[in-house]
Amino acid sequence: MRICRFNHDRLGVVLPDRIIDVTRVLDALPAVQWPFAQGDHLIAHFDLILPLIRLELEKPDCKSLRLKDVAFDSPIANPAHIIAAPLNYALHVQESHDPAINHGVHMPDHEGFATPIDKYGLFLKSQSGLVGPAQGIDLHWPGRRNDHEVELAVIIGRGGAKIEAGKAMDHVIGYAIGLDITVRGPEDRSFRKSADSYSVVGPYLVTADEIADPHRLDLSLKVDGVVRQKSNTRHLIVNIPDLISRASHVYSLHPGDILMTGTPEGVGEILSGSLIEAEIETIGQMQVQVR
Ligand code: MN
Repeated sequence: MRICRFNHDRLGVVLPDRIIDVTRVLDALPAVQWPFAQGDHLIAHFDLILPLIRLELEKPDCKSLRLKDVAFDSPIANPAHIIAAPLNYALHVQESHDPAINHGVHMPDHEGFATPIDKYGLFLKSQSGLVGPAQGIDLHWPGRRNDHEVELAVIIGRGGAKIEAGKAMDHVIGYAIGLDITVRGPEDRSFRKSADSYSVVGPYLVTADEIADPHRLDLSLKVDGVVRQKSNTRHLIVNIPDLISRASHVYSLHPGDILMTGTPEGVGEILSGSLIEAEIETIGQMQVQVR
């Protein structure tokens, strides 16, 4: 199933040619009381909500909208973490020897370590930097090189700590397209990649049952119609269960956590006025305006 958040506070199911508004199922969510639990309230109760969504789709009075008439928000409203993998495709590691990317600070070399992630670990992006494709990207460092990075975004359904890789995929509820937007420079990754609107996730959540093999998905990104990035998730250096396991041994994962799995080669500059089109096989595509 393809679940979207749209028009700010609406919940929908995405069909090939339209969206069914199922917002009224949210009435079944348990009331919340401060202090709130960590994580996304909808994803935490997805087992309760999913059967209600199925019932809703069968109702003759369900409301449908045309795809072009809705504004897609991030499918996850309140992730406790946005976790990201640096340097996780070999050809991106190779291109990161360019001083315009590493600034002499973020060197991709990892002698003595099995992979770049064994050396550098993972990093966090701010939750407040998360937007959906409809919000677009506001550049924060005009005059510096701001880059696109298309990534497979993995959405955690069931939380946990110290998750073994062999059980990690049981914690995945689905997938989306992620953009890890970044300014190049000497600052730490989390600072350069956490600006408002620098984490785009969308256009909707595709539940895990629809993705036969998340390690075999074409992904690509165009800027103003020109292909910049084109690869396949089979080239991930550290795979998804390993990433989940590594993350969960440091941060307890919560429902709705977003894991950006790393970008393939072809990263490049976006400018005010650029239009990004990102696509991942089986998931779909999204357009994001840069301002
Ligand atoms: Mn990235």
